[in-house]
Amino acid sequence: MFLTKTNFIQYLNCPESVWLLKNKPNEYPKGEFSLFLEKLIKEGYEVEEYAKRLFPNGINLPEKESPEYTKRKLEKKYKYYFQPAFKSPKGVFARIDILERLDVKTWHIYEIKSSTSIKKDKNNNHLMDVCFQKYVLQENGMKVSKSSIIHLNREYVKKGDIIPEELLQIENVNDELDELYSSVVNEINAATNFISKEVINQDVCSCRWKTRSNHCDSFNYFNKKIPDYSIYEIGRISAKKVGLLVDNDQTSILDIPFDFVLNTNQQTQVESVRQEQPIINYDNIIRHLDGLEFPLHFIDYETYASAIPKLDGMSPHKHLPFQVSIHTLAEDGTLTHFEFLLETMEMPNAMLGAMQEFTGLDGTFISWHASFEIGRNNDLKEWLPEYNSYLNYVNEHMFDLETIFKKDYIDYRFHGSSSIKKVLPVIAPNLSYSELEVNNGTMALDTWGRMVLEEEFNDDIEQTRMNLFEYCKLDTLAMVEIYRALKILIA
Ligand code: SF4
Repeated sequence: MFLTKTNFIQYLNCPESVWLLKNKPNEYPKGEFSLFLEKLIKEGYEVEEYAKRLFPNGINLPEKESPEYTKRKLEKKYKYYFQPAFKSPKGVFARIDILERLDVKTWHIYEIKSSTSIKKDKNNNHLMDVCFQKYVLQENGMKVSKSSIIHLNREYVKKGDIIPEELLQIENVNDELDELYSSVVNEINAATNFISKEVINQDVCSCRWKTRSNHCDSFNYFNKKIPDYSIYEIGRISAKKVGLLVDNDQTSILDIPFDFVLNTNQQTQVESVRQEQPIINYDNIIRHLDGLEFPLHFIDYETYASAIPKLDGMSPHKHLPFQVSIHTLAEDGTLTHFEFLLETMEMPNAMLGAMQEFTGLDGTFISWHASFEIGRNNDLKEWLPEYNSYLNYVNEHMFDLETIFKKDYIDYRFHGSSSIKKVLPVIAPNLSYSELEVNNGTMALDTWGRMVLEEEFNDDIEQTRMNLFEYCKLDTLAMVEIYRALKILIA
């Protein structure tokens, strides 16, 4: 059984999940984020293409070629190799992004990352990746004397053609690797031993003692007896409290003792589960909603983010708003709708102009998780300063409808979440995302990106536009319906 770098990084985060992948691939959950992962992979390839341009005369080895093929190519004594493959005698496999032959019979590894810095955190440590690559080369008898990470330059602003030397930064990580290397080698040995085990304890995994944000898609496989409305659903519960409850075999919210210390929001959530009823702070909701000045503009952007900036003025990983939906509710109850979708990859000047004409500098803007819309408006202010006063008005008159569902309206059926996708089916069950062709933000981003960038886009363009319009429109109509339901509730 062989171990790739991806397997190893997964092992560092969780040995059990990689064991399941290697030993019971049919039981391994495919996960819901495949479109998102696909996008990350595509972006990785794109960054790689620019990185290769830093090394003219590099030899591109075919993506799927074997270590034997690499060996034959190495005999030709080229200076730079792209994607050479190596396998250690113990079955540890690496494909090096860029390998440089140095004069003194030693080698220089380059690892390419599409981030704007070198990540060194617990769950994502790029230095570990490089150590892994170095290990496999050294196990093949090749001395690695230099290691570097190539990543995107956060400060880069596109102006005309992309300039790889400005887009990318190369950082030498020799010293940091020296400190880490031996411990990573020990981990690699432990990982190869672990994935080769015929059996492991499959009745429980360590995330049983951790909060929900740590759980992967295999959680249910390893923790089959976790009930609905489990303690993991309690908003912002600490790992310490999860641990205490799990140790006492209290994994259902209903098992939590009455004297167990939780904060006010958490207690409210537990109470909602016990009573099987929402718990509502009417006074706070009245205070919030009565303070909103009409007309109310329920607003939602869809955005396109890419590692490599696509438009002049943009930097890596910035979000371009390509679509907006606004439902405007007047004080007399009249509802009007505005929508705009960019037809090409372009700055949204026309979109902002039309938005401003539709809403004017008047009333309150309402969004869900408003920090996102506010952040996009701040970016737009930099790119299109002619709209500064309008966007300042929007940001200064923005109300986040989600806040009500964080503290003042807690319903056990939200399962500890305040996402609109959880709140809507409970508050306004007549509206649903499930029938839509495009039914989440990643799908919208992917669909629009393919429509405007791919020359061979095969889908029906008119239908695709309709699908995008329907999705964004539902996001704002959902807010209107939730707002109306709240108004009826507090009337
Ligand atoms: S839930 Fe956690 S411990 Fe369990 S398999 Fe997933 S990552 Fe590993």
